[in-house]
Amino acid sequence: MQGQLQEYPHGSAARVAIVTGAARGIGAATARRLAAGGRAVAVLDLDLDACAVVRDEIVAAGGTALAVSADVTDETAVDRAVEEIVEGLGAPTILVNNAGITRDNLLFKMSVDDWDAVVQVHLRGAFLMTRAAQRHMVAQRFGRIVNLSSTSALGNRGQANYAAAKAGIQGLTRTLAVELGPFGVTANAVAPGFVQTEMTAATAERLGLTFEEFTARAIAKIPVGRGGQPEDIAAVVHFLTSDESGYVSGQVLYVDGARRG
Ligand code: NAP
Repeated sequence: MQGQLQEYPHGSAARVAIVTGAARGIGAATARRLAAGGRAVAVLDLDLDACAVVRDEIVAAGGTALAVSADVTDETAVDRAVEEIVEGLGAPTILVNNAGITRDNLLFKMSVDDWDAVVQVHLRGAFLMTRAAQRHMVAQRFGRIVNLSSTSALGNRGQANYAAAKAGIQGLTRTLAVELGPFGVTANAVAPGFVQTEMTAATAERLGLTFEEFTARAIAKIPVGRGGQPEDIAAVVHFLTSDESGYVSGQVLYVDGARRG
């Protein structure tokens, strides 16, 4: 057996992937990358029209995709969305929990609503999506779960809610790896540093900076000398969801150009 890779019953073709928060940013880049790699991709986000734009891009490029509207914090909507995906594309074996929001403020000014909203989307959302999708992975004895954490999990001024949620994601990921590993399912977290998306553009605005100024300040502290692009994260997710990554599980991979925090 030494040196042999495990053979999966379904081969590498036409696996079904779900990417949450896939209407833009890192999620959209990930949906496009997984589709380019031969996955049938469910583009899931709050706004169906925005999902349809990404779906149409994927289809125009020769891929397979389905636009699905759901709020990942809504248990009923999540279960319904996963059933819609099963009917439209087939049983999912790849899940990327990417949907996210920020509600930044210093702790003494942070409202309970801002705390709850962030924890709900990141933690409750990842929990509900994973619970709904994992049974299809367990049934097929194959699965790949990737959760988006962040360098903010290590602590970041003005982000008590977000940092706590992104650290929680890491604990969730390791527990999924332990519980689901015996069923051929891996779980890993990707923790990006600064990535140029609408989320970081909103942060710049909150700080009273142009996005160019904010980006320049970030790049000055990044050893590789550039800002991250959504495609940088998508490439890592693509590897972690591949058939070849089956011995990589329970890991947190920081993708931050060598900058921490
Ligand atoms: P983004 O551009 O703001 O995109 C996030 C997407 O998630 C949006 O389309 C948003 O929809 C959607 N979403 C929000 N709440 C949702 C919900 N309840 N149900 C379904 N979808 C929902 O963010 P991004 O920068 O691409 O970030 C993607 C992930 O990477 C997030 O988890 C983020 O925390 C993480 N991350 C980002 C960075 C970075 O520098 N950009 C760094 C580290 C980690 P709406 O637009 O309709 O709200």
